[in-house]
Amino acid sequence: MRHSLLVAALLALLPCSALAADAQMEALATKVDGKVQAWRRDIHQHPELGNREVRTAKLVAEHLRALGFDDVRTGIATTGVTAVLRGGQPGPRIALRADMDALPVTERSDLPFASKATSTFRGEPVGVMHACGHDAHVGILLGVAEALASIKAELPGEILFVFQPAEEGPPDGEEGGAEEMLAQGIFDRFKPQAVFGLHVFSTLNAGQVGWRSGPAMAASDRFNIVVQGRQTHGSRPWGGVDPIVASADLIGTAQTIVSRRQDISRLPVVLSFGAIKGGIRYNIIPDAVELVGTIRTFDEGMRQAVFADLKNVAESVAKAHGATAVVKVPDTKGNPVTANDPALTARVVPSLRKAVGDANVVEMGLVMGAEDFSFYAREVPGFFFFVGATPRGQDAIKAPSNHSPEFFLDEEALKVGTRAMLQVVLDHQHGTGG
Ligand SMILES: [Zn+2]
Ligand SMILES: [Zn+2]
Repeated sequence: MRHSLLVAALLALLPCSALAADAQMEALATKVDGKVQAWRRDIHQHPELGNREVRTAKLVAEHLRALGFDDVRTGIATTGVTAVLRGGQPGPRIALRADMDALPVTERSDLPFASKATSTFRGEPVGVMHACGHDAHVGILLGVAEALASIKAELPGEILFVFQPAEEGPPDGEEGGAEEMLAQGIFDRFKPQAVFGLHVFSTLNAGQVGWRSGPAMAASDRFNIVVQGRQTHGSRPWGGVDPIVASADLIGTAQTIVSRRQDISRLPVVLSFGAIKGGIRYNIIPDAVELVGTIRTFDEGMRQAVFADLKNVAESVAKAHGATAVVKVPDTKGNPVTANDPALTARVVPSLRKAVGDANVVEMGLVMGAEDFSFYAREVPGFFFFVGATPRGQDAIKAPSNHSPEFFLDEEALKVGTRAMLQVVLDHQHGTGG
């Protein structure tokens, strides 16, 4: 409503179909705003780790059934839910995806609906929090589903709604996420012509949306290194082999893999250690130390070179300490690069501009974060965009990022995400995009 005068002036210049679609979008979105907020708060207060989204999936499936969707399927890739909305008019077949999982993070906020949930992760007690904002994704997509269901008779085409578990990766020893949803045939039963998704993002302010054509988000791979020493008394290090000092050296040397060996003037590369585990007591030098971490790349050659260098550094540094290193890189199957289809992107970005205003649409740089949306976008043309989460007036670059215990979602993001996604879908289905 802020730009109502400007909008009124511009509407006079638009063709009738576009004008009708814009007014329809705003009317549809306004009707579901309250529900989207309520769903998001409810899910935020009841977060569930990957492959454990039982309550969330039940809520989603019940809503989709209540809306009269066809072919509501549950239990896909453990807790995934899909359903189809068949419009009354001929048109394209598309898929819309939201992820449902939370993270092993203890929330630090005084929100009335802050999470108090706990669980276990890799054998340890943890807090559980929607620190990546997937609660917002589920709320927004449920709202979009309800809005589109209300115009089913005049809606062109068919829409597959995908509510996916374990975007952040399944628990150790389990399969999960987008790759598993595809392995279980969701695109065999319903082959979309395009797939859309969004992510709330701390580095943009509420009100903004971000996009990028082509490669947008990095490939991510995990690694696992076990440095094997020989346990001894802390007072007699010469009586054993110290894996802690070897690991410290290994971590330091590993910093040169990116900074000294990769041409980061061409494309960025990141290598980070995320956990180090070794020892139990102040006066025991432990037998072994386990190190885990992540590698982010945009190029297959660089990816393979980092794998080889990390293996070499870990084994060689351990050897120099008289220890050994067992290196698994990649440890599990990683996520490929998330690439937005250039032709689809060119068609869709005007819809984002329509939905939130030109000044609020930001062309992004490469994002080192990864997304398993990449698996869908490998199968069919995909478009994945970002929705700003940090309150207006705050420096979004300095705001606590996604995955932080202080990650904060300004709920304006819910309204913006709902409008942006609805506009993208309506324009795409009516063929009135850019
Ligand atoms: Zn995340
Ligand atoms: Zn996420």
